[in-house]
Amino acid sequence: MPTQDFESAKQRVFDLRTLLDKYSYEYYVKDNPSIPDSDYDKLYHELVALEEEFPDLVSNDSPTQRVGGTILPGFEKVVHEAPMLSLGNAFNEGDLLDFDRRIKKLTDQPFTYICELKIDGLAVSLKYENGKLVRAATRGDGSVGENVTQNVRTIKSVPLRLKQPYSIEVRGECYMPKDSFIKLNQEREENGEAIFANPRNAAAGGLRNLDPKQTAKRNLNTFLYTVGDFGELTAASQEDALNQLDGLGLRTNHDRRVFQTIEEVWQYTQEFQEKRSDLPYEIDGIVIKVNEFEVQEKVGFTVKAPRWAIAYKFPAEEAHTIIRDIEWSV
Ligand code: NAD
Repeated sequence: MPTQDFESAKQRVFDLRTLLDKYSYEYYVKDNPSIPDSDYDKLYHELVALEEEFPDLVSNDSPTQRVGGTILPGFEKVVHEAPMLSLGNAFNEGDLLDFDRRIKKLTDQPFTYICELKIDGLAVSLKYENGKLVRAATRGDGSVGENVTQNVRTIKSVPLRLKQPYSIEVRGECYMPKDSFIKLNQEREENGEAIFANPRNAAAGGLRNLDPKQTAKRNLNTFLYTVGDFGELTAASQEDALNQLDGLGLRTNHDRRVFQTIEEVWQYTQEFQEKRSDLPYEIDGIVIKVNEFEVQEKVGFTVKAPRWAIAYKFPAEEAHTIIRDIEWSV
């Protein structure tokens, strides 16, 4: 039974796309969102539901068919050899059970899940040639990003040289620690400058600054979480790959854990929902990935995201508490 007729759905789809395009521009280009992420997610999922109900309304330029941002003028463009994708979202236990069912329909091979913290920053790609950092780029629209090599070189935890002379491309999240964010906003307030809405926007503004000296002042950091081009590296699973990145001197997050069942995965998401305000950086959820690369390959991708991974997003009220907690702890 359709929830509404085609003509009113068409109008609503048009309105939602116009709104989502405006919010995406503010978020990805201006680094200055005007609504909370949870409100954006609600509108986005209303659009997904309408497009599922009325497939004739799907079009290439819909936000549901594209990955995030655009390229700022002033930065050299970088074409990603393998696209940098987004992730599907889950908001409750039912969504995770559906995710588990979908995967099991696509493969009958046994597999495990690896859970990682979803760091709230922006995705970066680091390219090493013979062990030397030669290029860093933002995700951009997923196919083309911005060359931010000079800026990334100011991040002290990013090795300029790996412990092995490998030629690989690794990807991860660039973020601003909570204490640096509070300090930055205090300074900006004192100087009469506009304050940043959250650490994610401050990190994005810092990384996408045309003056690397300004980036250096932001005290940015990174956690690497995936390999774009393996080069000399051989790994059978995500867990194995992350351990090897550690061995190369790249910074990974050590709260990752491997589980046999989706029920254990759910417990882990709830554990970190409780713990998130104690962490020194912001997380907005948990990323759940099929651990074994062989099974990942079988399960494959949609145009926008891998089918073998999903981002469980924490509920909205929690996000507001976090920001309040930061302010109170100053
Ligand atoms: P996403 O944030 O839902 O998830 C994908 C991203 O997660 C990856 O690109 C990566 O950067 C990050 N990530 C962090 N830790 C990771 C890990 N361990 N493994 C893999 N990835 C990890 O998707 P998105 O496309 O980056 O952004 C869409 C989201 O941005 C929306 O759901 C919304 O919450 C927010 N947004 C908000 C506004 C606004 O106006 N407030 C506008 C546009 C988008």
